[in-house]
Amino acid sequence: MPGLFDSLGGDDSPRAETDAVAGWASVAVEGGMDTFPEGLTYAVPRGLASLGPGQRVEVPFGRGNRRARGIVVARMEELPSGLAAGRVKSILAADDRTPPLSAHLLDLAAWISRYYICPMGVTLDAMLPAAVRRGAGLVTQTMVDLPAEAPTSSGRLGPNQKSVLATVADLPAAKRPIEMGELASLAGVEGTASIRGLIGRGLLIGTQRRSIRGGDGIEAHAMLASGPPPELTEDQHRVVSDLTEVLDKGFSRHLLYGVTGSGKTEVYLRLLERTVAAGRSALLLVPEIALTPQTIGRLLSRFPEVPVSVLHSGLTPAQRHRQWTLAADGTARIVTGARSAIFAPIPDDSLGLVIVDEEHDASYKQDQAPRYHGRDVAIRRAQQAGCPVLLGTATPSLETWHNTTARHLIRLHRLPKRAPGLNLPKVQVVDFGKERRRFNDRRVHLIGPTLGKGLADCIADGGQALLLLNRRGYANYIACSDQRCGWMQTCSECDAGMVCHRPERRDHPGPEFLRCHHCDAEQRVPRTCPECGHGVVVFGLGTQRVEEELRRILPDLGPEAIVRVDSDSMDSPRDLHRVLEALGRGEVRVLLGTQMIAKGLDFPGVRLVGVVNGDTSLSMPDFRASERTFQLINQVAGRCGRGEAAGRAIVQSFQPDAPAIRLAALHRFEAFAQGELEDRVRFDLPPHRRMARLVVRDEDETKAKAAAERLLENLRPGAAAAEVELRGPAPCPIARIAGRHRIQIELLAPSAGAIQTLLQDARRAGHLRPGEGLAVDVDPVALL
Ligand code: ADP
Ligand code: ZN
Ligand code: ZN
Repeated sequence: MPGLFDSLGGDDSPRAETDAVAGWASVAVEGGMDTFPEGLTYAVPRGLASLGPGQRVEVPFGRGNRRARGIVVARMEELPSGLAAGRVKSILAADDRTPPLSAHLLDLAAWISRYYICPMGVTLDAMLPAAVRRGAGLVTQTMVDLPAEAPTSSGRLGPNQKSVLATVADLPAAKRPIEMGELASLAGVEGTASIRGLIGRGLLIGTQRRSIRGGDGIEAHAMLASGPPPELTEDQHRVVSDLTEVLDKGFSRHLLYGVTGSGKTEVYLRLLERTVAAGRSALLLVPEIALTPQTIGRLLSRFPEVPVSVLHSGLTPAQRHRQWTLAADGTARIVTGARSAIFAPIPDDSLGLVIVDEEHDASYKQDQAPRYHGRDVAIRRAQQAGCPVLLGTATPSLETWHNTTARHLIRLHRLPKRAPGLNLPKVQVVDFGKERRRFNDRRVHLIGPTLGKGLADCIADGGQALLLLNRRGYANYIACSDQRCGWMQTCSECDAGMVCHRPERRDHPGPEFLRCHHCDAEQRVPRTCPECGHGVVVFGLGTQRVEEELRRILPDLGPEAIVRVDSDSMDSPRDLHRVLEALGRGEVRVLLGTQMIAKGLDFPGVRLVGVVNGDTSLSMPDFRASERTFQLINQVAGRCGRGEAAGRAIVQSFQPDAPAIRLAALHRFEAFAQGELEDRVRFDLPPHRRMARLVVRDEDETKAKAAAERLLENLRPGAAAAEVELRGPAPCPIARIAGRHRIQIELLAPSAGAIQTLLQDARRAGHLRPGEGLAVDVDPVALL
């Protein structure tokens, strides 16, 4: 098997002395080498005889025997056949700081590595946060106590030592053992030499304890819902009792399909409560947690007594390490976080419920190796744990909907109505082509008369408004002012336009600069067109422009009352939290932003939602464009009408009759799904078929093409046998990123199994080597 035993060979490698060996282990080495499926074989030295699977170790690796880290994936009594004991290297050391990965997590990693065609070491890297591997914030403290029996004679003691002894003796039992530094300051002594002396003489007992410094104080969000839990509606009650029924009945899959504002979160809270009461732990996944501080706030305020571990990207390394440890040692009973929280080290026998909120959200799919889908891994994890998994959303992904309604793999639970007193907003679609003709000046208008009046009325009535600018297609590009020239600034490393940004660090806006959104290259804005020397113009209609127009339409609102959130104006998740708090207090009247404001917000004062460009996501070169558009409009419209006043949404669109827009406006998900699924059948696309995408990457275009052709030829015989259709090779929609040309091959098959067979065989035969030159994406959600 190629690549499997690469660590052998080289003459200076430390070989195992057979008589000093306590057995053998297979180790997945951290990093990109694909040693699928077994890992590398190492000898376990006697001193590490108790080493078990999941333990992190140090091993000599490669020809130079560089010290590498890895994780033991299996222990073996016998050396695999074909290996000579004298040629196998020995494990160097065990990392006893990092708790071993549980059997379920190891098994999950193996499944991910197999299913998503990813080196085991890369999967394990993703599973074990860097902060945990590095031991961020970890300190070893000496805890001091009195010995069980007082020594008969204490000999001569210095004044400091006397003071220390007296201090310890005076401590109430609950305060002992006490940390050495703390004791020193209580006793009023300088340094810890005197304490160490006492320990040395047996007058005090010192024990080592590890703790994580600086790991406390995750920002428990201030937007805490107060008051007692609401009485469940009849629908909620039915769902909660149906699901309570299955809580201790092993693995089962469920979809909570409830319109926006129907009280899905309340259902989650009740189920979490029951799981914890039954003595088990629960896992709640949410999309990009920084964007849904409200959900976390509701969780923390509902269960003040229950330890909760929160894992998200806004944590410091020490905080992350600490939150992870809370889950690992079983302290936390509820673990919540974004995609990677699915790897939270909840003890295997403890997990009793997995919930995936907003299961349709594309952020659950990781866009680099391992390219796993958090929702699908969640289902797998629940299966391992033998517990139910609940997917919740107002707009199920078509994969989930298909698995529910056609394949009956998932049980459907409905919340068809909004929570008591709330109505679904009336959504009005306006034809923006016509709207624009109503202006009789030559300015570019982004907010038409209907939306403009809607905003003015809403504000005059004391309401609040959200205004969504669909990010896609609304970036600011730089182009030649002479239309006959047609020059546009593109990234030198990518086949994509560069986007103009105006940094706004607090009060002083900096100079504009250009950034490539694919490789993050930055450069200054050119003054003149390099092709013809004419001046340049900014075209495209960014959030900044909409903000300017908004301020013209609403001249009575102060600068603080209109806030724009996008990647230029927000430095950190905390900035967004602050804005949302101000929105909650009513200080912010209009919130303008991109996709980040479409999700999960629940503010009763919001009466109007405007969508500036409802259709730009429709024109994406992606077969899910309609599905995404439907979800976006439905989700953002769902942000209003959550208070006493009725909600209203206005969607501007150049394609007002597109089914995704028309049906989203009518809240008719099922009709949309039916039509869209028929299209997917017609064009042989997921979820009707399963898909994998292979992207060959090389700086040299000819080499990339040749490699893709070779790969295709290698796959062809197996594909015919497995009934897998191969499409391509063809350049990706973005044909070059960061200087590398990208050629894709798409695989389509009637079942996931067929694709797996083909890919595993190719991997074993050495035709498929995931890494820099080849990205393998199984069940892709983005096709650029
Ligand atoms: P979803 O998650 O389905 O969008 P939420 O759980 O955010 O809906 O509920 C919307 C609003 O309705 C929230 O403010 C919530 O507190 C409230 N709510 C939920 N269930 C009830 C209920 N049974 N009675 C009254 N209000 C409720
Ligand atoms: Zn670029
Ligand atoms: Zn020009």
